Amino acid sequence: MNIQKTIQRSETGKPGSVGTCLVHTPAVVLLGLSFKRCSKCGQNKPRSEFTKYTEAKDGLFYWCRDCKAIAQRTYAQSPKGRATRINIARCKRWTAPRTKKRITQLQVCEQVRKNIKQGVLDRPDNCENCGITHNYIHGHHNDYSKPLCVEWLCPTCHYQRHEQMRECRAIKRRKVEP
Ligand SMILES: [Zn+2]
Ligand SMILES: [Zn+2]
Ligand SMILES: [Zn+2]
Repeated sequence: MNIQKTIQRSETGKPGSVGTCLVHTPAVVLLGLSFKRCSKCGQNKPRSEFTKYTEAKDGLFYWCRDCKAIAQRTYAQSPKGRATRINIARCKRWTAPRTKKRITQLQVCEQVRKNIKQGVLDRPDNCENCGITHNYIHGHHNDYSKPLCVEWLCPTCHYQRHEQMRECRAIKRRKVEP
């Protein structure tokens, strides 16, 4: 009777204790440490050996730090990794000056709008190029450093002007290139 009771108690146990048999209790649990198996090298490593990764269920990356570092280094040295790196650099070089230019354009546009509102600038009804009457004449800038130097053009002429400018730039670029 007494023996029976003892067995029952140890079987139900306290919450958190794993079984009664020490042989079948994983070393991980006995040490009170939380381990994770790296899916790359297959080793059981402490959780601190894994980097944070919010998209994973347990919040840790699938590979241990060592495996991840090796994989990253291998990728960086591969032709694909090298191409990606070059592309990123090229993209940065391309967008930065253009973004700056776009900001200037927007600032100038805002300035023109403000000046029209204050009556400093007057938006005409006719295109300065073809003379057509249009209810929305565009303010075109040949030089963004002179925000008040506006050329008033109808949408058609404005579009053509920009086409011309694009062509001029292309010709210049061709001349520069040997
Ligand atoms: Zn690993
Ligand atoms: Zn026009
Ligand atoms: Zn324009």
